[in-house]
Formats: sequence, C-alpha cells, structure tokens
Amino acid sequence: MPTSAAATFVSMDGTATVSGFLTEPDRYRHLLDAGRPGPVIARGSGLSYVAASMGPGILSIATRYFDRILAFDPETGLIEVEAGARLGPLLSFLLERGYILPVIPGHPAITIGGCIACDVHGKNPARDRTFREHVVALELWHPKLGLRSIRAGTPDFDATCGGYGLTGMIVSARIRAQKVGGTAVRIDLTPVRDLGEAHAILTEKAPRADFLYSWHDWSRPGSTLGFVVEGTITAGPRAPTQFAASLERGARFPVMNRLTIPLFNAAYGAKLARKNGRVAPLTDALFPIASLAAYYRLYRRGLIEHQVLISQAAWPDYWPALGKLFDDHGVRPVVSSLKMFQGERQGVGFSGAGISLTFDLVNNDRSRALLSRLDAIDCDIGALTNPAKDSRLTATVFRRQTPDLPSFLARRAVLDPDRSFRSALSQRLAL
Ligand SMILES: Cc1cc2nc3c(=O)[nH]c(=O)nc-3n(C[C@H](O)[C@H](O)[C@H](O)COP(=O)(O)OP(=O)(O)OC[C@H]3O[C@@H](n4cnc5c(N)ncnc54)[C@H](O)[C@@H]3O)c2cc1C
Repeated sequence: MPTSAAATFVSMDGTATVSGFLTEPDRYRHLLDAGRPGPVIARGSGLSYVAASMGPGILSIATRYFDRILAFDPETGLIEVEAGARLGPLLSFLLERGYILPVIPGHPAITIGGCIACDVHGKNPARDRTFREHVVALELWHPKLGLRSIRAGTPDFDATCGGYGLTGMIVSARIRAQKVGGTAVRIDLTPVRDLGEAHAILTEKAPRADFLYSWHDWSRPGSTLGFVVEGTITAGPRAPTQFAASLERGARFPVMNRLTIPLFNAAYGAKLARKNGRVAPLTDALFPIASLAAYYRLYRRGLIEHQVLISQAAWPDYWPALGKLFDDHGVRPVVSSLKMFQGERQGVGFSGAGISLTFDLVNNDRSRALLSRLDAIDCDIGALTNPAKDSRLTATVFRRQTPDLPSFLARRAVLDPDRSFRSALSQRLAL
C-alpha cells in the first residue's frame, strides 16, 4: 500500500487553497492499491489554472513516477507513453527522431494525462484541433473496475478526453506524433489596428500556420492595437535537449495596477516586435512564458484568467461591447490574445469552432463584477468558457454553456458509478 500524506494544494492561479491528501505511487501495484476509502483524483503537474487535480479531503494520486516512453514506431510516429510523461522530455525524444506532437500547450511540465483530461489546445487549434484528435487509445484505471483499454471513437473515450479526470485515472496512452521539418521557428509579425483586423488576418492564415495567435495592448480605453504572430517551423540547429521550466509560484506581489498595466503592455509589445523575422529555437517558441518565474508571481491574490470561445457571427459585436464593459468597470486586461478554433464541440471540454479570446485580469471585486456581467452575455450568445482556466466559473453558467452535460454525466455514471473521482473543480461545477 503506498503512503499518503495530508497536503495543502494551491491552484496555479493562486485563487484556491485546498487541504487534501497526496500519494505518489512509484509502482503499478502501488497505484492499483491506491484504493483508500474516500474520493480520489489524478494529478499531473498541477498546471491547470483551476483546482482540477485537488479537492478538500480528496486524495490526489500523482503520476510523476509514471513517465516512461513505452513504445515508439519510427515509421508511423505512433508513440505509447505513461500518463505522467511531461511534454518537455517527450518532445526532446520526438524531435531527435524527426517528429513532434501536433498539439502542444504552453508549459513543458504539463503531463500527457493532463493534456487528455483537459483536452488541451496548442499553437493553432484551427488546423490541429484539440489533443484528443491525436490520441489513438488509452488505458484507464478505476479502483472498482480495474484497468481497461479504451479506443478512440467510443463513448468512454469521448467522456474521458476533456473529462477532467472524472472517469478514472489514465495510466498510459497511444498518440500519433507527426513528422516535423525542423527544430526552429521563424516568427513573423503583422501589426493590427484592432481585434477586428486581427480576426480577418487570423482567419486567412489559420488553415496553414504552424503557430498562430494575436496579442493586443488593451490597456488604454478605445485601443486594441497589437500583432498577429505567425510561426513557421523551419530547419534549425540540433534538436533541443532541454526545455526550461519554472514551477515557482512563491511570494506574490501587487505589481499590476492602472499605472503599471500600460507599462507592462508597452514593454511586452516591444519585446514581441524584436522577434519579427527572427528564427528562434523551438525550446523558446513553444513555451515563451514557461521559464519566467515572475509570471507566477504577478499578483498578490492570484490572477484571473478568462478564456472564451465566441462564434464567428458574434465576434464583430462582441469585442467592442467587451471594450465598453472594461471602460464601465474601470478594469484593464493585463494580457489579451486571440486564437482561431475549428471543429465540432466535443463533450464538456473546451473545443469547437470560433475565436478564442483569452485575457488576464487582476483578481479584485471590479474584475469579478465585470466577468459576471460577461458570463450573462456569453450564455446569451452561446459562447463557451474554458473550465480549466477560469476559477470563478459557476455550475449555473457551465450548465448553460454545455448542452452535452447530461450525456457526459450519464456516461460518467457508468464509468465511475459511486463517484470515486472528484475534485474542487467537479464540486464547483456540480460535475
Ligand atoms: C504556462 C501555461 C500555459 C498553458 N497553455 C495552455 C495552452 O496553450 N492550451 C491549453 O489548452 N491549456 C494550456 N494550459 C493549461 C494546461 O495545459 C492544462 O490545464 C493541463 O491539463 C495541465 O496539465 P497537468 O499535467 O499540470 O495536469 P493537472 O493540472 O495536474 O490536472 C489537470 C486535470 O487533468 C486531470 N489529470 C491529470 N492527469 C491525469 C491522469 N493520468 N488521468 C486522468 N486525469 C488526469 C486532473 O485530474 C485534472 O482534472 C497552460 C497552463 C500553463 C500554466
């Protein structure tokens, strides 16, 4: 029997502190024995912004020792890995062999289990869709039902991908890696006047770009100047062997306010502009903020990240209305950015077609009041909030934004009949 200890977890965004238990099994027999009475949840690197892999009184089962590459076929790129494998080492392995994962979120310590359970998106979701599209099969463990193999295209697979760890613990997965033409990225910037112009350029580039997003300085009323950033993978030096990452979340300090947000944006925009036309190693381009310890210390009371997927039809009216909300509430976003999405919405995860707008606000009452107002607008226009990123999303808003919730809950009742798997996130969203 593995040991478990009382543990205090803090969500990545700093807004939730949870007292639970932690076990870190290092053998399959320990994992399979982890069945202590009471609720459990799988834990990767804890890099979800929200409290998804922890919960009050809940045992978090960490996958950190389940990080092996089990098989790789150099002809097809099919790779089988344990769920605790982290993106950084896995990418080093693949790049040395001329392959890459098609969907890569923004931190090298994120695990494969976390990628599947949150059905994450990568550098160009309009072209590459979300992580599940590239998973062929997975092994799922449940304390009562044991180990089961689950293939893509089955209802159990659909509930597990983007199921926030609530259908069981993913032990390993088979994933289709893609051939890659190099180990560096050429960055090209197109200046844009506003979020409308950015949308037009992103739409035009989305079918082909390797990396594609826009960044905007929304720190001054009436202005959303920015850049569309396109990355093209190109021949580079040797395959990178190490992806730098900071997991530091130490002391938080209140550096962001009405005076410093414009300064921060000006500095960030200038830094971005210097990258135009440059070729950067993949190590830097894939994870631009991962090594910045300061990113994790930006706010005293945590940052609020809000990410929402808006339909193409709603977009022209949406962003000017949001600008007005910022003005009315006296709130300015610290960072804001767009990505394009394509595909069908799948289950209860963050997927579908449209424009994904992400912005960070200082966590205070004004920001929360603004976001509550925005929730109502989002529900009315059928927009979708990312549950893995937004700590204040309520069960009511989630239910209104998730038409497939009843079918997810029905499948989950089969896969986890006594609701052994729970988390602070599942409690908040009534999942
Ligand atoms: C700097 C940064 C950049 C990011 N960029 C992106 C991005 O570009 N796109 C994007 O979509 N997301 C992004 N994210 C969010 C992140 O990709 C996801 O939240 C991811 O799930 C975190 O993985 P993790 O290994 O840390 O999992 P955790 O945070 O520990 O867990 C996340 C969820 O996955 C479940 N889980 C973990 N392992 C397993 C398993 N073995 N079996 C079953 N369930 C499991 C947990 O129970 C929990 O519900 C970013 C986060 C950070 C901090």
